[in-house]
Amino acid sequence: MNAPFVWEAVSGICLQVTLVVMVAAIIERWLNESASACRVWTASFVAVIALVANAILLPHFRIATIPVSQLNDRVDWILQWQTWGLYAGGVIWLSGVCLILLRRGWGVWQLLRFLKQDCETVSFDQLGLSTIPADFLPPRLHLLVSDKMTGPFCRQFHQPTIVLPMYLIEGDQEVLRHVMLHELSHLRTNHPLQLFLQQICTSLLWFHPAIWWAGYRAEVVREFLCDEVAAQSAGKVVDYLRTLIQIAQRSVKHPASKSAACALAFGRRKSVIVRRSERLVRIAKSPTRFSRPRQSCGVVGVVLMTLIVSHLWLPVNVLASSRSHWSPWPSWTAKTLHDFGVNVRDFEPFDERHEFSESSHHHD
Ligand SMILES: [Zn+2]
Repeated sequence: MNAPFVWEAVSGICLQVTLVVMVAAIIERWLNESASACRVWTASFVAVIALVANAILLPHFRIATIPVSQLNDRVDWILQWQTWGLYAGGVIWLSGVCLILLRRGWGVWQLLRFLKQDCETVSFDQLGLSTIPADFLPPRLHLLVSDKMTGPFCRQFHQPTIVLPMYLIEGDQEVLRHVMLHELSHLRTNHPLQLFLQQICTSLLWFHPAIWWAGYRAEVVREFLCDEVAAQSAGKVVDYLRTLIQIAQRSVKHPASKSAACALAFGRRKSVIVRRSERLVRIAKSPTRFSRPRQSCGVVGVVLMTLIVSHLWLPVNVLASSRSHWSPWPSWTAKTLHDFGVNVRDFEPFDERHEFSESSHHHD
């Protein structure tokens, strides 16, 4: 593992991730339907993780290498810059990852403390929501109420959990039903898992704007989907819209506790609330805008695109040999395979550019 190889891997990941996110965004627009769009974003987060693993664990096919004739004796100069860039970039990247993990760890700790100290368990029967069918509830659902929060949220770690503010329990039954339907559909459609995958991607590639944008789109689509499920069973979309605005207003007045930031909160971002309201207004005007049956072609599209883009690498490796179209195996995978008795090439085949590099070292 040398500096040019890391440059090749990192630039390749950046390019591939950009393309996958672009394709996912195009498919999302084309499907124009929340359930499928949600699955498209889950697939693209899995794809991003797979692309990162592919870059650091497997050799790749080089469509092009830098022609030796254009390098002349600059190989050493480029190598030096790439090594320095790698050190500086590595330190910045690692600091970013640590900072994000610390922030998330702190958030989880605060959330666990909040759940333990400020919440009370209630049973579903106590809510008096006889209109929600029993098969809509996930098994082992943990219901909590608290008077120390403004917006409801749900999470799933070892157990699906919904946390409701006290004012909802004491208030209008219809509002409570809307909120419960919304939160339940988050749990039923595995949104906590999607959020987890999204957080892995944003922690690893925090420097990549496309990943944050994908995260934002995924959040919007998740909320659209659960709003649709709740609004559809609410009967009148306008009634549900009223619930949404009512909770959003409270959340704006008293910003949600930070602990809810690492869970699926009902109204976390103002811009998402605005988009959701606009969408509900559009649905209210023409109810045919409700989701069509689920389509899997979106996910297939993301998978195919991932397979294609996984072969795209930028020719930034000055040591890439022109003698082979395949990069060497990364040393850690090669070593592991060697332990299992499989020998793979983990070095660049010798060609002219190595001579340049070697000879200039001898002159020094
Ligand atoms: Zn939600």
